[in-house]
This record gives sequence, structure tokens and C-alpha cells, in this order.
Amino acid sequence: MLSVIIPAYNEEAMIEKASSVISKLLVDADISSELIFIDDGSKDKTWEKIIAISTENSGIRGIHFSRNFGKEATIYAGLEHSQGDYVAMLDADLQDPPELLDEMYEAIINEGYDCVATRRVTRKGEPPIRSFFARLFYRLMNKISQVDMVDGARDYRLMTRQMVDSILSLKEYSRFSKGIFGWVGYQTKWLEYENVERVAGETKWSFWKLFKYSIDGIVAFSTFPLDIAAFIGVLLCLAAFVFLIVLFVQTLAFGNPVSGYPSTLCIILFIGGIQLLTIGILGKYLAKTYLETKKRPIYIAKEVQTNETTSQEK
Ligand code: UDP
Ligand code: MG
Repeated sequence: MLSVIIPAYNEEAMIEKASSVISKLLVDADISSELIFIDDGSKDKTWEKIIAISTENSGIRGIHFSRNFGKEATIYAGLEHSQGDYVAMLDADLQDPPELLDEMYEAIINEGYDCVATRRVTRKGEPPIRSFFARLFYRLMNKISQVDMVDGARDYRLMTRQMVDSILSLKEYSRFSKGIFGWVGYQTKWLEYENVERVAGETKWSFWKLFKYSIDGIVAFSTFPLDIAAFIGVLLCLAAFVFLIVLFVQTLAFGNPVSGYPSTLCIILFIGGIQLLTIGILGKYLAKTYLETKKRPIYIAKEVQTNETTSQEK
């Protein structure tokens, strides 16, 4: 059986459409499946829609978060609740072409892959500045971390149960799925497709949200910024030492005229700035450690809608 995880946050316009399109495709392809909708604390009628379709259709379940926990948490919850031998995840806005599900399933069954993932080859319909920073992020990330991250990779993928269990064994609170997928390894086949624009609703990602997300990704999968901080420290020490010798020789040779107020000011500001920056970097890692040590749950489910009853959880 194939479990399909569909995160939805304020997607009331998409629930029915997504579920009918995906169900129909899977029935046509003769793949037995369950759909798991995760309502990430939506403020619109998303949960009502999920209840409506799941009471009609026994193959559809729903998880209702107590508030908005973010897409990473919905993925984790979906994986945790999935019962299939294979698990796929795709967006409720149908930006991940469901037609690929069949091909992905075939590749796993017949070609022996553990995972089939997708990437967009174009970023059509996206602001150019966002594409630029996205590309920069992937290039940087691949340089400074051990995990492989593919530019344009979507969360849209289909995996074996074994890989799902490996992902679930990473219980970190700050989840950066693109990194986690790469970190667990396994044989992955990449399918490519052209970017599809949203059918309805609007994107939940502002530029600022994406920026913070990328910083989280770097902190979660690389300690390189700490190395840079240390490196700058060593460099500044060396510079200070050289400067000291220069001053010493200068004073011996030319006496000691009192001047150099501007240069002193520059140096103080420069070093002060570097110190604050490196403390900031350190703080970022410390903050993450602090969050992790609290061992908070990744999400809280208010209701879980199974085929039979609605139950309270956690
Ligand atoms: N989503 C979510 N929680 C959030 C933000 C988004 O579950 O806090 C879901 C959203 O409903 C959609 C998917 O994650 O199904 C991708 O979101 P979106 O389409 O806004 O991202 P984009 O496609 O623009 O990258
Ligand atoms: Mg989208």
C-alpha cells in the first residue's frame, strides 16, 4: 500500500480538488493507497473540508494540528501516521504534478530505488531575486555541509518504508527536511519537471520566511560558520601582531608623534563588529542547542480523523 501525505495550511480551495485528482490517478494506476491530509492549524475551512471528504471516503484520513507548526512538522506527522509500505508526499496546491506518482512508484518497484525525488528545472513564475538567492543557498550549502542538496529539489517524493523509518529516527526539533533526506542516504532517483504555478490560494513563503529557513538549514547541517569565526579570530591576531611590530619599529626610528586617532577608531569599530558577529554566530548554535535540549514535541495534534471515528490525541 502507498500512503500519500498532503500538508495543507489555509488550503480550503484545494482540498476537494487535490483529493479527487490524486485518488483518481492512483485508482487508474491500480495502486492501493491511503491519503493523509494534515491541517497545519489553518484559519479557514480546511479542516471542515478534510472531515467532509474523509467521512465520504474510507481511504482518507486527517490530522488536525493545534496551531500552525510549519510544513516540516506536517511532514513528520504524516510519516509517523503513515501505514503504507511506500510513502509519498506532495503539496495540496497541486504544484507537484500528481501524474508523476505512477512513474515514481514504478521506479521503486521495478528499478530497485529506495526513493524517487523530484526537482524543478525551471523557476518560472517566481520573483528573479528569490531564484537568485535560492541558487546561492544551494551552492553554499553543498560547499559547507556534508549532505547532498539538489538545487530545485522539492519535498515531493516517494520512499520505501525503510527510508521513512530512518527519517523518523531523526527526532530533532528543528527539522530541515531537504537536509534530512540527504543525510539518511539511500539510492535516490531524480525526476525533473517544469515548475507548475499554484492552482488556487497563495504561497505561504515570504522572502523573510525563506531567509530564516535557509539560516536554520545552515545551522542544522553545517558547523562551517563557527570555523569562519575562529579563522577570523586567528587572522586578526596575526594582523595585530604585525601591526605591533610596525609600530615598535616606527617609534624607534621616528620617535612618537601623537597621531592616529582615525585609524584607532576604525580598528576599534572593526574589531568590535567582528566580535559581535562571531558572538551572534555562536549564539545561533547555542539557541538551537537550547531548543533541542527542551525535547518539545515536533507537533501537537488536536484531532485525528480516521475512517471510523474522530479521536482526541496527545
Ligand atoms: N504548508 C503547511 N504549513 C505551513 C506552510 C505551508 O503545511 O506553515 C503547506 C501548504 O499548504 C502547501 C505546502 O505546504 O501544501 C507548500 O506550501 P506553499 O505552496 O505555500 O509553498 P511553495 O509551493 O510556494 O514553495
Ligand atoms: Mg506551492
